[in-house]
Amino acid sequence: MTTTPATTAPPTWAAVAQAFPALRQTVNGHRLVYLDSAATSLKPQAVIDAVVEYYADYPSNVHRSVHTLAGRATEAYEAARARVAAFVGADAQSLVFTRGTTEGLNLVASGWARRHLRPGDEILLTPAEHHSNLVPWQQVAKATGARLVFAPLTADGRLTAEAIRASFTSRTRLAAVAHVSNVLGTENPIRELVALAHRQDAVVVVDGAQSAPHLPVSVAALGVDFFAFSAHKMCGPTGIGALYGRPERLREADPLLFGGEMIAEVDQEHATWADVPYRFEGGTPHVAGAIGWGAAVAFLERLGMDHIAAHSRALAMDAAARLAALPRVSVYGPAGGRQAVVAFNYDGVHPHDVAQVLDSQGIAVRAGHHCAQPLMAALSIQSSVRASFYLYNTREDVDRLVDGLREVGRYFGR
Ligand code: PMP
Repeated sequence: MTTTPATTAPPTWAAVAQAFPALRQTVNGHRLVYLDSAATSLKPQAVIDAVVEYYADYPSNVHRSVHTLAGRATEAYEAARARVAAFVGADAQSLVFTRGTTEGLNLVASGWARRHLRPGDEILLTPAEHHSNLVPWQQVAKATGARLVFAPLTADGRLTAEAIRASFTSRTRLAAVAHVSNVLGTENPIRELVALAHRQDAVVVVDGAQSAPHLPVSVAALGVDFFAFSAHKMCGPTGIGALYGRPERLREADPLLFGGEMIAEVDQEHATWADVPYRFEGGTPHVAGAIGWGAAVAFLERLGMDHIAAHSRALAMDAAARLAALPRVSVYGPAGGRQAVVAFNYDGVHPHDVAQVLDSQGIAVRAGHHCAQPLMAALSIQSSVRASFYLYNTREDVDRLVDGLREVGRYFGR
């Protein structure tokens, strides 16, 4: 479901890359090839300018003072909320600004699930979840007596609608699943999950950290109850993200932070809460971050999310096929249907050493467990290398990665 109209023709991606000042540098004597966007994306000049403009021209707090600068800051902050909300097919009133995906998922876990789950209730997850979409539910289970249930993945790492159906029981009260896996690049069947869950009033929480940057997303079309995502993975600033929640679900949740700006009335003994989403935004928010994120969304919309999705998918599919064809390289995840990320290992060489040799050639990748240790265990590995692609990458970057891995082989005599 497309929420952002795509331009008719795809952009010239090499020209798009010019908008990112970080790409103008050389690293270790080579043109930088940035393949770590799943960790955090680079920022275009338009986003940097929007943040600088806020700090230089109207660095005021929001929703407080009546002076001109404060009015401008409040207007820009709320315009950013509306823009980000529309980007994922939501109304502004259902979008809570958070510090990022992690905080959004914790808000649902602490604010909603602890209040509503009972002993014996089941929380449905998958073995591929990022720790941010696992550890909060472990804590909820400990606090409430609910039980974690894991829907199995296929041998090549996919979550099928059949596996969801087989794992769903009459006790399932909540399902929390990534939209797109940060290791395997797989897109999960969220609509099927929602259809099943809503038959018995179970709540669906989606970790959108890796989908919002790449796919046209409509929370309304998906029908999810909650959807958490981060600005910094989609060309925006660090330190800000959002939680979309269906308003009736948000109203059922307790705030995480109590204090200024989240109240309706306060006397010495008691307080009542402001309406959603403001009751979840206690304290001074990340005003510059929100404004920068609004600029990032405008940037992405200008390019067209359909084009961005097709581009990062094509690069990842090409890279996966070419890496799998190299001797000694194992690629994880399904051969088809991959979005933006390729996790792999070089036989006999530690992933950190692979990343180091690639870095010496100016190629930035991630090595480690990618905050998905249960998935690493399921794959019978400790860690892997991960190359992740975004709108500023090109086919030439895939060539550089393939050449870089040949160099790894030469370096380690393999
Ligand atoms: N979920 C997934 C799938 C992720 O990839 C990430 C970021 N690596 C997170 C959650 C956490 O996001 P953040 O650090 O922005 O809170």
